[in-house]
Amino acid sequence: MMTAKSLSRLEAIPVFYAETMVADSESYSPSAAKPKAVVAAWQEFGFPMTLKEPVPASLEQFELAHDEVYVEEVLTCATENGFGNRSPAVASSLPYTSGAMLAAAREALGNGLVAVAPCSGFHHAGYDHGGGYCTFNGLMVTALTLIDEGLVRRVGILDLDQHWGDGTQNIIDHLGAKDRLRHYHPRMDVRGTYDAARFLRMLPDTVRKFGDCDIVLYQAGADPHIDDPLGGWLTTKQLQTRDRLVFEGLAELGVPVAWNLAGGYQRDKTGSIRPVLQIHESTMKECVQVYATKPG
Ligand SMILES: [Zn+2]
Repeated sequence: MMTAKSLSRLEAIPVFYAETMVADSESYSPSAAKPKAVVAAWQEFGFPMTLKEPVPASLEQFELAHDEVYVEEVLTCATENGFGNRSPAVASSLPYTSGAMLAAAREALGNGLVAVAPCSGFHHAGYDHGGGYCTFNGLMVTALTLIDEGLVRRVGILDLDQHWGDGTQNIIDHLGAKDRLRHYHPRMDVRGTYDAARFLRMLPDTVRKFGDCDIVLYQAGADPHIDDPLGGWLTTKQLQTRDRLVFEGLAELGVPVAWNLAGGYQRDKTGSIRPVLQIHESTMKECVQVYATKPG
């Protein structure tokens, strides 16, 4: 069996980022402003990465996953976005966040290993509705675009955010697309017990089930952290182990991965999102360990 150590590696991890992905969402969630802070933190850390421009998602691509009236009304601020407001800044960032996810997936398919979209706010967005700080489902827009273009047969969505990806499942069910999508969230296994040791013990097997996918979209949510106000079951060390097992497992399978940030709501005493940035830093560190030629 091929091991992670014998894989080809990248000089630098491709990260799809531009200022156009960033908005002030005027809400409790820092998600819309997070790409900039995360990329700055990663740069400061000195990770080997190459910044690449996301291509904005098109109307046609949004409409593969969403109702066309909903898409049009959100983009023209005629209805509320997933943050519960009609902010033009949020609306104009949306093609770039889904676009970053799609571009990262294309890049990962191309290099056969990995790429990153440092954005959030996807998995609660359903076929014709947003909610829970999610407006459009960039995971499903990405998956369905790649399938529509004939680039892949099956896409895995490995969602290790704290919260169940109800929007993702809603779109899969609405479109009857379950043969083309493998969707996993810990809730499917732990059934309310949220036993961290058991989850981590099972994770290598969970990842191996994605061996029939041509690409995996991995939501490396920071909100399962034990101190997160909306989360609370994995320690810093356990989150690090989660990320290592995911990257090592997918590398061994030879299945490329595009990963994103998803949720994370901790703040320190000064109100900064530093605790969340540290979790995303840890995910990048594990990614670099597995996929880059030189550790950061
Ligand atoms: Zn979440």
